Order: sequence, then C-alpha cells, then structure tokens
Amino acid sequence: MGSMTVDTPVMALAEPPPTRSAPGEPLLTVQALTKTFALSRSLPEILRREPPRRVHALTEIDLSVRRGETLGIVGESGCGKSTLARCLVRLHRMDSGRITYDGMDVGSLRGTALRQFNRRVQMVFQDPYGSLNPRMTVRATLAEALSVHRICPRREMPAQIAALMDLVHLPRSAAGRRPHEFSGGQRQRIGIARALALEPDCLIADELVSALDVSVQAQMVNLLLELQERLHLTVLFIAHDLRLVRHLSHRVAVMYLGRVVELAETEALFAHPRHPYTRALLEAAPELDPTRRGRAEAAVKGELPSPVNPPSGCAFHPRCPAAIALCRTERPKLAPLRDGRLAACHVAAAEDGLG
Ligand code: SF4
Repeated sequence: MGSMTVDTPVMALAEPPPTRSAPGEPLLTVQALTKTFALSRSLPEILRREPPRRVHALTEIDLSVRRGETLGIVGESGCGKSTLARCLVRLHRMDSGRITYDGMDVGSLRGTALRQFNRRVQMVFQDPYGSLNPRMTVRATLAEALSVHRICPRREMPAQIAALMDLVHLPRSAAGRRPHEFSGGQRQRIGIARALALEPDCLIADELVSALDVSVQAQMVNLLLELQERLHLTVLFIAHDLRLVRHLSHRVAVMYLGRVVELAETEALFAHPRHPYTRALLEAAPELDPTRRGRAEAAVKGELPSPVNPPSGCAFHPRCPAAIALCRTERPKLAPLRDGRLAACHVAAAEDGLG
C-alpha cells in the first residue's frame, strides 16, 4: 500500500512486509477450500451415538484476487460469503484446501510471518460497534493498533492518527470521542481507520455498508473507491446488494450454497449473466435495470436448500428453470466459458460447445 501519510510522512518502525506480486497478478488465491460446521446433537442422536450432522458451509472454493482489484462476492444470505471471509483471515480454520497470499501458504504461517500476514490483510465488519471498545476514545483505539504492530514511534503517533482521521474524512477534533458519540456511518469510518492503521495491502469488507442508510452507503462506497485508488488496496467486497457490488467491483464472484458458480468481469456479468442463478439474482434486483420491473417472478424460485443435505448433482437444480437430466446427477465444475469467465453450469458449457 502507498504511504497513508501523504502530507505528514512518518518513519515506520516495523519492517514493511516483503511484497512479491505485481499489480494485476494474483495476490490471494484459494484452492479447493472446504469448511463444514458440526451441528449440536439432539438427545436421541446422542443416545443413538450418531455422529453430529455437518453444515457444508464452503465446498471446494477456487478463487483468485488480483493485486489492486476489487473482487465483489455476492449471493443469498447463507451462501457462505462471510464464512469465506473468516477463513481467509484465519478466524475459521478450514477443513481442507489451500490459501496462498503473495506466494505464501497462509495455513503454514507462524511467528513473524503470521503477524505480517495479520497486518497485511485486514477485515472490516458490518458492526464496528461490536468490535470497538466503548470505553476507548478513537485516539486510544488507533494508538493501540499502531503500537501493537509497531507501525511508528510513539512521538509520531499524533501525526499518524491525524493522517488516519483525514484519510477516512473524520474531523481530527473527534479523536477524543468514544464510539457511542458517533453515527453508524462514522463508526464504520473508525473501523476502516483502525484497519488502515496497520498499512494493509488487502481489505476484506464483509457487508460493510448493509446496516447503513442508502445515502450513507453511497458515502462509504465513495470512500472505499477513494481509498483504493489512493492506497492501491486490494479489496474483497462481500455484499448482497448488487448495485453496490457493481459500482465498486472490477470482477464479481457469485456464490450459491457454499460454491462459486460464476466469476466474471463486472460489466460482462451484469450485461450477460451466464449461470441461471446469476440471471435469477439480477432479475430479483429490478432496480438494476428499470426495463426488468415486473419480472421479479422470474427470480430465484423456492427456498435455499439445506446446507446439511445439499442436492445431488448441481445444487441449484431444484430451483433452476434451465435444468436438464444431467444436472440432477452430475455436479458441474467451475470452468472457463468461451469469453474467459468461469461458470459451473452444464447448459452454459453446452451453449459454448464445451459440454
Ligand atoms: Fe441449472 Fe443445470 Fe446449469 Fe445447474 S447445471 S445451473 S441445474 S442448467
């Protein structure tokens, strides 16, 4: 990331983490990531000594985020978006698979390398209030983040904190206030400032703006765009609002029941979705295209199936208007279509002569 102290340069104490990947090259790569959660057992199940049933939260996720891009991740709630984010920052331990960051195997990082990874990849949550200490002023919160990772000498902290306040467009004079004295949008800015204090090169924004009013959402989206350009951040933007994802993202990954089903350049995906689930999602958001008003009935039919017993074959087949017999028995692989996008659909592959 570029220096955040454009106007007030300060000397960093901590060694800046080494960077291997160039802009546009994969920075974060996920291969066959699988994560399940055990359900608590009922008394009869315990008495019958049955093993706990498992929720299949993520199944064989393959994904790559390029340095400097914003990758949007969308899908219905319960599709695994947030679990994926938590696996990426090691808040959840994956069952199997591999995550590499800038060429390093994240699962095997220990000691200094792990601390550097924790500094370079920062997550910002939907509810900053829950992650901010209500008794600490903004100044103390930012100073703590700066000192834990030894970002700058103590004497430089006031200047660094002022620069962080400037970056997220909060008045410097507000640094002495506590979280309850701010609005929801301002608290999100504090959460972002705390993340930026560690000079990350990757920001994972999990439903960052979902709880905010529409006008405040727009301000936050503009702030993210500005920060990305200014600091050359790589951003994973996880959201269920397709308008925001379209506005912010260079590419978009669509998730369904714990799998990526389509991944494409943003404009290609919105102009010409190829996976039937992507099409249904877009049609369920008529505000994206006024000509689609009244077609919401063509949107996703039925309930999301249980992730405890996912359907056979293509997990979308019970809801898919394009399903063919093969869809019930054979799971489609996420594979390139003719235009280079990735899709996991037998029919889309057949349409491109690839089936
Ligand atoms: Fe629909 Fe079949 Fe494609 Fe799945 S593989 S999305 S069921 S057409």
